[in-house]
Amino acid sequence: ARAVSDKQAVLSSPPGLKARLLANENPFGPSAAAKKAMAEAMDTSYQYPFMQMGQLAGKIATYEGVGQKSLIMDSGSTPLLHAAALFYTKGGKSVITGDPSYDDLPTYAEEFDAKWIKVPLTADYKLDLDAMEAKVDANTGLVYICNPNNPTATVVDTAKLKAFCERVSKKTMVFVDEAYIDYLPDPQAASMIGLIKSGSNIIVARTFSKLYGFAGLRLGYAIAQPDVIKALRSYSSAGFNVSAVTLAGALAAYQEKEFLTDALKKTNASKEYLYSVLKKEGYEYIPSSANFVMFPLKMNGGKFVGEMMKRGVGVRSWAFGGKEWCRVSIGRMDEMEAFAEAFKQLS
Ligand code: PLP
Repeated sequence: ARAVSDKQAVLSSPPGLKARLLANENPFGPSAAAKKAMAEAMDTSYQYPFMQMGQLAGKIATYEGVGQKSLIMDSGSTPLLHAAALFYTKGGKSVITGDPSYDDLPTYAEEFDAKWIKVPLTADYKLDLDAMEAKVDANTGLVYICNPNNPTATVVDTAKLKAFCERVSKKTMVFVDEAYIDYLPDPQAASMIGLIKSGSNIIVARTFSKLYGFAGLRLGYAIAQPDVIKALRSYSSAGFNVSAVTLAGALAAYQEKEFLTDALKKTNASKEYLYSVLKKEGYEYIPSSANFVMFPLKMNGGKFVGEMMKRGVGVRSWAFGGKEWCRVSIGRMDEMEAFAEAFKQLS
């Protein structure tokens, strides 16, 4: 797969876009309660955030039914992806990922001499768990599972993934990135966190950047066995790099059902509209289980992205499986309309 990273795309996008559909953010967040709590937290923001860190860790651990020693928080899930990459692939070990999948962890690992083994997706654009398992050998340091997968927005069968994690985690570390799990109808049922409770040696990463709308506020966490958390802690500066303001917002927003349901509803309405636009213009798409949609283009991806950008619409392109693809993040309805307007001129 060829693609520019999410970071590159965001850095090279001009400010003031009509539609910012390039980084899988949630423009419906953060919630009103989170914003109020953050404004109030400004007054005490001269204090170090130890207390709020403990409070939020306690809240999350209680909700998930794990001990606090099974949890690590950081400024987004990115530093935790990086810590895992460093710890588990050190000494030239390999990392196995889907292709295409979210490339931040393996790209980072490669910079430190890890070997990146890419396993093509199945014909229906899902992670090919059987083929990934077949690649595990004595040099494997980590298997990275992104579920739902970015950039295809596909999910794998929960029971199948559980069985995979149970088997493969006996041979190597399995890292399950659940950044988009909040977009599924029942995130807890689809999560692999339950396996950690029953003793499996896997890491599950979560983030507030997506459905919670905290991408700019920076907060994520990982859940794993206590010795794994200890190892990740030694490879990150976790515990000291989340702001008290962000933590106050997260304490107000965590599992705030009304907001989450509403953001999901708005996301799905924009997504249905996007589907209708694509259908009308004669395009297919991969049915999406997250806040972005991938569809095959009828022109070069780079050219398409450039033409859309000229019209004030930021999207991303990929090439895989012999096709050029566009990934559209789901935005507000006015942004989806701006996409439709520009897209009509090009299709
Ligand atoms: N994991 C996946 C699958 C992502 O798509 C992203 C960002 O787009 C991240 C992790 C990183 O998110 P953050 O560091 O904001 O938690």
